Amino acid sequence: MSDCIFCGIVAGSIPSKQVYEDEEMIAFHDLYPAAPVHVLIIPKKHIPSMLAVTEEDYVLMGRMTKVIQSLAQELGIAESGFRVVNNCGEEGGQTVGHLHYHILGGRSLGWPPG
Ligand code: AMP
Ligand code: ZN
Repeated sequence: MSDCIFCGIVAGSIPSKQVYEDEEMIAFHDLYPAAPVHVLIIPKKHIPSMLAVTEEDYVLMGRMTKVIQSLAQELGIAESGFRVVNNCGEEGGQTVGHLHYHILGGRSLGWPPG
């Protein structure tokens, strides 16, 4: 999608501090980190939200889970603990309409979320 920030990051037209890339997905540091470690992982494919995931994305979604595990190790938060968040829709707090998981860690995270 030409007006999508995250598609712009995938295309390289919007800069990002990338920490991972493969054929299907990229991960990069959040521009406004909410924790000492705050990385976003996104599919290269423009999927508007969690609600728009279809059966053809199931393998991709599983692979993203494996990459999240590896990133947690590499980012040094696997042992201490971390949180994986997807915000979906208005009340879920979604502000970018391209599916993404937040990977947050490096401090004790409160629960429930605000
Ligand atoms: P959400 O509110 O769940 O849709 O998350 C969107 C996230 O994208 C927020 O945490 C923003 O700080 C982050 N964000 C927005 N623009 C950029 C950008 N250009 N590079 C990196 N992160 C961004
Ligand atoms: Zn997009």
